Amino acid sequence: MGLGRFGGALGAVRYLAERGADLLVTDLRTEPELKTSLEQLADLPGVTYHLGGHLEEDFTSCDLVVASAAIPLSNRYLELARSRGIPITREMNLFWERNPGRVVAVTGTNGKSTTTALTHALLSQAFPGRVWLGGNIGKSLLPDVEKIRPGDWVVLELSSFQLEDLAVLRPNAQVSIVTNFSANHLDRHPSLDAYRAAKQQLLACQSTDRIAVLNQDDPDVSQWPTGARRFWFGSDDIGREGMFLYGADAFPRRAIFRLGLREQVFPLGDWLTLAGRHNVINALAACSAALLLGTQAAQIEAGIRSFTALPHRLELVGEVGGVRYFNDSKATTPAAAILALRSFRAPCWVIVGGYDKQIDLNGLVAEIVAHPPRGVACVGQVGPALAAQLKQAAAEKGCPLHLDESGTLSHAVAWCAAQAQPGEVVLLSPGCASYDQFENYEERGLLFARLVAEQAHVATTSSTASSANVATS
Ligand code: ADP
Repeated sequence: MGLGRFGGALGAVRYLAERGADLLVTDLRTEPELKTSLEQLADLPGVTYHLGGHLEEDFTSCDLVVASAAIPLSNRYLELARSRGIPITREMNLFWERNPGRVVAVTGTNGKSTTTALTHALLSQAFPGRVWLGGNIGKSLLPDVEKIRPGDWVVLELSSFQLEDLAVLRPNAQVSIVTNFSANHLDRHPSLDAYRAAKQQLLACQSTDRIAVLNQDDPDVSQWPTGARRFWFGSDDIGREGMFLYGADAFPRRAIFRLGLREQVFPLGDWLTLAGRHNVINALAACSAALLLGTQAAQIEAGIRSFTALPHRLELVGEVGGVRYFNDSKATTPAAAILALRSFRAPCWVIVGGYDKQIDLNGLVAEIVAHPPRGVACVGQVGPALAAQLKQAAAEKGCPLHLDESGTLSHAVAWCAAQAQPGEVVLLSPGCASYDQFENYEERGLLFARLVAEQAHVATTSSTASSANVATS
């Protein structure tokens, strides 16, 4: 149930079909809408599709329902199946029941994907060919589960929904990492307590021989109960075991790792290519777990140095004429955009705005006016209101603000590119969702990258043209 346009169920469908299940796939969306996903399943024989809506009889005549993680158990078709005694499971549960490997599970409100991918990269240095990456990060490991050997490390990003569904299996991960916790997904979880309880499952199910790597800076997470041995990461070294920022550097450069009497200092900030203090904190979590599992210092260095930002997360997408362009299209909340604005010491040209979720943009406006970038381009549905708010706040503070109000991403990139000087940064960090002008944040980020590539092309052709002029004159 729920194939998804972005391939959410592909792994489960492939796994079940290849093992001879008599399989029916149903989705509310129509065949043309699901075209991309369906094309990837075209080679599978014997799968029946009921698309463009669900049929009640499909939920009363089957042996098992595998529902997408996006569909709550309160869904009426799932309730119908349950009322008939038909078991309901999820792709992650099917994987967990079959996985022979050892699990490092990463959860939290923000920074999950980055921390998961980085942990995977570091462990891969230490255990080449024996480390797997999957879960909410977008790759189903279910089709690979028979290739995983006992003793392999499986690094999984787990969302609160996946953890809620896994609870029936009492998942006892070898290592858990919790990045942080704040209010989120309250459209799906009935309350903040329910959202917290879903995430807490991960720690609560761990036995005393297991490891929990927790954010010491987060007053909520640091109180979460667990049987596992706790290690910490955070900004201040107060003598605990784990990994912490070290020294009084304004921009974090060094970190100390402590395990019993062993202490090691790492020039983490010199190795890390990712922008942003929050990514240094994510790196502390990943390094901490990797070091605890036996990764050596040289392997940490190699893993960190070669790790580049995940797509759409402060991702460097180009450098044109000494100006660096960063795509942070995943920043769909004002808090994420504020984090991005604080991530650069270089002067910035910033592109903000997007779909109007009716959220309070005052914090973002205050941040921009407190530390005015070289220029701000306001785009999308909230663009005009955001520009008006910025002008008013700047006037009240008496600080000049250089604004572009044309509203489209293509104009905004051209506007920034025409004025940015070598050494400066152009940053797309919208602080808003993308649904006003795009299918999703990925499409917005890809357009930004394409516009940057066009700037690079313009720069090359104009420099070729001017050198040709010199040659002919
Ligand atoms: P997630 O998978 O939890 O969404 P990502 O690693 O994909 O996390 O990062 C998404 C966004 O969350 C980033 O672009 C950044 O704005 C923010 N973020 C990342 N790490 C942190 C962190 N440690 N603390 C706060 N915000 C963060």
